[in-house]
Amino acid sequence: MKKALTIAGSDSGGGAGIQADIKTFQELSVFGMSAITALTAQNSLGVQGVYPVSVEGVEQQIRSVSDDLAPDAVKTGMLFDKEIIDVVADLADHYHWPELVVDPVMVSTSGAKLLKDDAIEHLMTRIVPLATVITPNIPEAEVMTGMDLNGLANRKKAAQELAAHGAKTILLKGGHEDGADTVTDLFYDGKSFHALSVPKINTKSTHGTGCTYASAITAYLARGETLLDAVILAKKYIHTAIKHGFRIGQGPGPVDHTA
Ligand code: PLP
Repeated sequence: MKKALTIAGSDSGGGAGIQADIKTFQELSVFGMSAITALTAQNSLGVQGVYPVSVEGVEQQIRSVSDDLAPDAVKTGMLFDKEIIDVVADLADHYHWPELVVDPVMVSTSGAKLLKDDAIEHLMTRIVPLATVITPNIPEAEVMTGMDLNGLANRKKAAQELAAHGAKTILLKGGHEDGADTVTDLFYDGKSFHALSVPKINTKSTHGTGCTYASAITAYLARGETLLDAVILAKKYIHTAIKHGFRIGQGPGPVDHTA
């Protein structure tokens, strides 16, 4: 069986973070493993607390998994601060995992900070160049490039800018575009662009979308798909999961991994 490791934050509410990643790996028949960077106390109404794990704790989880269980692909999500970024980057250098998917998580939809402001530059310089692919959404790509990303032409420029910063491949997700009835994700490998478009689904139950999309890419890479095929297959998975998003608490619900 293929194996995937997620290095990310825990969502006690079960919809995003480590929990979304492991559910996705399981649905896609990949053995899921985890290194938890932070606990969040969270439910459908928002994030009530963030409790980072010690750097030593993060390091040892990654070493324990990598030394014995040899992941076929690794994904990073919430990395929270500079110290955790440093240890993840050092270990990525050390272990040379076959594939590394970097979801540059910054802020939850409910507004909680999942990456400290002073760690953004660190993420850009230490983690981004190590990634097989990075998966920013529009607000994240705006922070990473300092550009205003209205429209596809600007997003192409932003993808080129991120490539100039050392990202090998960029999947710039279009789901946050205002008022659009089509969602277009832009895939750029430094040479050519591929646009992946689907009709926008009108729902508020999208909690965990970004985590699920990136972990589906990771699972398909672990299974040996090429990067573009992994993204296309993951896009199908997340589109179906969003279509079947459902409410389980008082706030917006999660996507459905079993759909
Ligand atoms: N909690 C954790 C631990 C996350 O990693 C993320 C997103 O990456 C979120 C919450 C936010 O999820 P959403 O913005 O889909 O609500």
